Amino acid sequence: MKIEERTLFWAGFGQHRRLMGHEPRERPDLRNMVLKIRSEQLQIIQRHAEADYPAECCGILLGQVEGDSKEVSEVAPIPNLRHDPARAEELLPLDDPGHESERNRFLIDPREQLRVEKDARARTLTVLGYYHSHPDHPARPSGYDREHAWPWYSYVIVSVEQGRARDTRSWALHDDRAGFEPEPLELEESLSAARRQEG
Ligand SMILES: [Zn+2]
Repeated sequence: MKIEERTLFWAGFGQHRRLMGHEPRERPDLRNMVLKIRSEQLQIIQRHAEADYPAECCGILLGQVEGDSKEVSEVAPIPNLRHDPARAEELLPLDDPGHESERNRFLIDPREQLRVEKDARARTLTVLGYYHSHPDHPARPSGYDREHAWPWYSYVIVSVEQGRARDTRSWALHDDRAGFEPEPLELEESLSAARRQEG
């Protein structure tokens, strides 16, 4: 792999931002913030998690920062590159292939990540965070998640038990990267229900 590609590679969560100095320009203090999501979007995340079971799924949360809340207006499912072991090994080899696989590790193709970000920017949407699933594990961040996380973002984790989505929680990384803190996840009324009421 050429060095430029290596700098671009992205191991799941925002790593390349640090490597390339791509931190978001505005960095409001996102602690004490609320992640707001509509039920339609939550369903997309949960269905994606169930469809990819027993592998991990992942995707990007897009929307706007409004005062004290991050409002998700779109979710972008992203293929888990671990489904393609040859390409995944080329980008980021597993430390312990005997115990790690697409089941408990995910990898976003940096080209997919950049494509979604570019498209979002063109529509003045912000990347608010990421989601991924934990097949047959609680919706709590793992050590791997912490190593690959970045403080600015929301990390939504869905636990999937026996193929059914259970808990969905959001987490935010401390600025010193020491650990995650639960982030309030507020379920907003669905868009169709809101429209029905207006009508
Ligand atoms: Zn995880």
